[in-house]
Amino acid sequence: MATAIITGASQGIGACTAKRLAKDGFDVAINHYPSDSDAQKALEVAEECRALGVRAECYSADVSDFAQCEQMVKKIKEDFGAIDGLVNNAGITKDTLLARMKESDYDAVIAVNQKSVFNMMKHVCNVMMRQRHGRIVNVSSMAGLYGNAGQVNYSASKAAIIGMTKTVAKEFGSRNITCNAVAPGFIHTPMTDVLSDELKNKMLELVALKRYGEPEEIASVISFLLSDSASYITGQVIEISGGLSM
Ligand code: NAP
Repeated sequence: MATAIITGASQGIGACTAKRLAKDGFDVAINHYPSDSDAQKALEVAEECRALGVRAECYSADVSDFAQCEQMVKKIKEDFGAIDGLVNNAGITKDTLLARMKESDYDAVIAVNQKSVFNMMKHVCNVMMRQRHGRIVNVSSMAGLYGNAGQVNYSASKAAIIGMTKTVAKEFGSRNITCNAVAPGFIHTPMTDVLSDELKNKMLELVALKRYGEPEEIASVISFLLSDSASYITGQVIEISGGLSM
């Protein structure tokens, strides 16, 4: 059975992706931020995955920390024997206009959203290269493709992920490792629940389907990109936005 790691999988798109991958037959390694509440939520996600008949284990690590990622990947390899898929999903926002943004808000978002992707790919690629097989999906954003006022830090991190995705696709293609990105639009998760109704309504005017996306609608595409059906797709960015930009 194939094994996939999902970062930031205690809630939102990550939790939903872990469950979708379990449903599709993957054993899942569920990463969560090192806090008691995240650990508890991750345990519940793991229980739901196990109920689908697969192996599911939880791993506490701050993915912005290189050494913690190294330890976690080592442990997952020991526990599962192989790492077939990696989903770099963990992310945060610290939104405000550039004029008001603190340096610490910029640095924190880059560390969690972008550096984490380097940290995880760096360690997992060693395993995948030896296996001569692997599939990586990085969770970018429409903000990384088109920009979004109030998100200069977030847009920078998500645009960087796209460059990293294409580069890794080129570096590791000959080893049978694919690397793709998804760019979600406005998805119904705890990350967007905090936005004001006024902003939500304004954003919806721009969406052709006139509704928010659901985490399941991102998870299904990630699962496809990890599957054998996507064996000849690499270096691509799949927009999942209900027609936000056309
Ligand atoms: P979410 O509900 O806030 O989930 C993000 C998860 O990442 C949380 O479990 C969070 O833990 C975890 N995380 C944060 N920092 C971490 C760290 N340093 N180490 C490990 N885990 C960490 O948000 P979401 O909407 O599901 O977002 C998932 C991904 O989709 C993110 O990369 C986001 O940028 C991207 N995305 C979302 C949307 C959207 O509309 N929702 C649109 C485009 C892209 P804590 O709760 O403890 O922080």
